[in-house]
Amino acid sequence: MAGDTIFAVSTPPGVGGVAVVRVSGPDADATLTAMTDAPLPEARRASLRLLCDPHSGETLDHPLVLRFIAGESFTGEPVVELHLHGGRAVLASVLHVLGRRDGLRLAEPGEFTRRAFDNGRLDLSQVEGLADLIAAETASQQRAALHQYSGVIGERCRAWSTQMTRGLALLEATIDFADEEIPVETWQIATDEIVAVRDAIRSDLASAHPAERMRDGWRVAILGAPNAGKSTLINALARRDVAIVSDIPGTTRDSIEVHLDLGGYPVTLIDTAGIRESADTVERIGIERAGRMAAKADLRIAVAAPDAALEADVSALLREGDLRLWNKVDLHPLPDASMLPLSAKTGDGIDAVIARLRETVDSAEPPADALLLQQRHRAAMAEALRALDAYAELASDDPDRIQAAPELAAQIVREAWEALGRITGERGIDRLLDVIFSEFCLGK
Ligand code: GDP
Repeated sequence: MAGDTIFAVSTPPGVGGVAVVRVSGPDADATLTAMTDAPLPEARRASLRLLCDPHSGETLDHPLVLRFIAGESFTGEPVVELHLHGGRAVLASVLHVLGRRDGLRLAEPGEFTRRAFDNGRLDLSQVEGLADLIAAETASQQRAALHQYSGVIGERCRAWSTQMTRGLALLEATIDFADEEIPVETWQIATDEIVAVRDAIRSDLASAHPAERMRDGWRVAILGAPNAGKSTLINALARRDVAIVSDIPGTTRDSIEVHLDLGGYPVTLIDTAGIRESADTVERIGIERAGRMAAKADLRIAVAAPDAALEADVSALLREGDLRLWNKVDLHPLPDASMLPLSAKTGDGIDAVIARLRETVDSAEPPADALLLQQRHRAAMAEALRALDAYAELASDDPDRIQAAPELAAQIVREAWEALGRITGERGIDRLLDVIFSEFCLGK
């Protein structure tokens, strides 16, 4: 347990009905005692207390107070939560009193969660889930984050690690007692355990859905010649039942991205016109960039119009399942039944476009019991799988081969074991930790 006690406001900045200040560490209870003249409230029982400045005796607020004892709190340490009235003066005065107390200091961003991790309350995959949950803007992002926060991934990894440890222990016993006669079954039992883990990892990797797809959503590139009506379409989509989550510049200086919440699913529209038109050197470069963005997108919407036919190089980018729209149908009727008729300007046909988008997006929604894995988890599991495949290869039909190289066999299994440990944060993670915890804001 860390020696010092930390505190921070855990609710968002600004004025509100309630603002929660969390205090975590060995001095949490004594801090509360010093600020009230009533006995400590029972753990986990909401209690009203008059909160005072211990120096001046001045009353600061009349908040609801919650206490958690060590081992039963978010951080694993003694925690006190002050549910203050959310005014600036109240908060400022309480933070001032806390800051003045010896042994107390303001928490760093993410430090409460860091302590929860250090005290074994959360594993690393849960910490990542919590960060995603706080950042979630749509229902599917929320679902993916909760899945991860529930700890299912860590549970599986720990079960595999335990099973591998049993196999490894048997292997290592054969190294330690190399001079003695080792029964053949020992190798076989070890190999059975290890190969069973290999098979489970392989099957999970094959059936898992990418969590990023639910978290980051669909990337939809809008393609078409200048003037086809791409910007008008984006505006029309944004005005309908799809809500714009945010309208932010893309990762590159000149791509335009609009984030939508389409029935709970995050969708990012990329206006490739922006890329083409803002490429200040040669138009060619802009077109190539738009092409690359389109190829990387999960779905493409091609927009053609009477005065803006689809260029051959744009048509070539389209794949099965992509949407082809005939815009400005108010000016010229639909020439080709494979296209969806649209008047982005009047709004005619926009509902059909939204329905098609929604169908595509719905088909990508993983079943409720699906395992969701982030790229980091998939990479570590794939590494474990490679190592275990190498073991299985070594063990294949001839136990003598392992018997001849038990150290090598154990080393291979240990590599797999370490790769899984990186998922839960039990091994080899120093560099990773700073990256993951830096995503949290103050008070989390
Ligand atoms: P972009 O270059 O593809 O983004 O095209 P814009 O969205 O800027 O549209 C080009 C022009 O076509 C604008 O003057 C729009 O008002 C017009 N336009 C867009 N959609 C329609 C439509 O459905 N019907 C008609 N009549 N004009 C449209």
